[in-house]
Amino acid sequence: MAVFSEFVMSAASARQFLTDNLPEIALVGRSNVGKSSMINSLVRANKLARTSNTPGRTQTLNFYRIWPEGKPKVGDPADPDDKDRFSLKGTALEAAQSAHAFYFVDMPGYGYAKVSESQRQSWRKLIEHYLITRENLRAVIQIVDLRHPPSKDDVAMWEWLRHYGRVRLCLATKADKLPRGQRINNLRQIAADLGMKVVTGPDTGTTADASAEPLLMYSSEEGVGREELWAWTLLQVRS
Ligand code: GDP
Repeated sequence: MAVFSEFVMSAASARQFLTDNLPEIALVGRSNVGKSSMINSLVRANKLARTSNTPGRTQTLNFYRIWPEGKPKVGDPADPDDKDRFSLKGTALEAAQSAHAFYFVDMPGYGYAKVSESQRQSWRKLIEHYLITRENLRAVIQIVDLRHPPSKDDVAMWEWLRHYGRVRLCLATKADKLPRGQRINNLRQIAADLGMKVVTGPDTGTTADASAEPLLMYSSEEGVGREELWAWTLLQVRS
């Protein structure tokens, strides 16, 4: 059965986070780096996550429910008065668990100059709270642009994830915008700038390892890295 994916909801505060405890994979990166495009290319949907040329628009945590084995027909119509109606419950939750459903959680993009300092601070608090405390968060995918050296914010985020021991993968996207001969050089530079000691591709054969720092070249346009990213993601949500 084909992968099925659905946008579930956007959370502007921790109170709105989903409570069904399905595994989550967070996506972090600068505004406009290509997070939405990555989700869409991975699940092969053009309009699931909204892509745009307007950085800074994403000011919420956006939850996408992914059904890798397709979505079984399950009941449990949502109660519109239930404040937690977006979370799965009962038989719907059981079906999701046995179908290995999980969430991609798209985080507010950092490093956008035009937002106010107070807005930046409140985003940061929300992201940090989520990344530090979320128990069903299995791994974090940090997205950087293969064409450029990582920004100060990129480096700070990667070091922060390392510090907190989050299982992580760095995805260097927009590979199609570079000539093939230049791609590996840029990838090496990114590894060096992020302080990766041993650079590996994503390990898809073992369980999650928070000391590994896998780096993967990606293109949402060309499909470079897609299979590896999918295999790594499934390993994280199933282990
Ligand atoms: P987000 O803000 O991180 O969600 O970024 P988007 O996914 O909206 O992408 C920002 C812009 O970069 C859009 O115009 C995308 O079409 C473009 N883009 C994203 N990923 C790629 C890629 O792999 N290759 C190319 N050529 N363009 C991309």
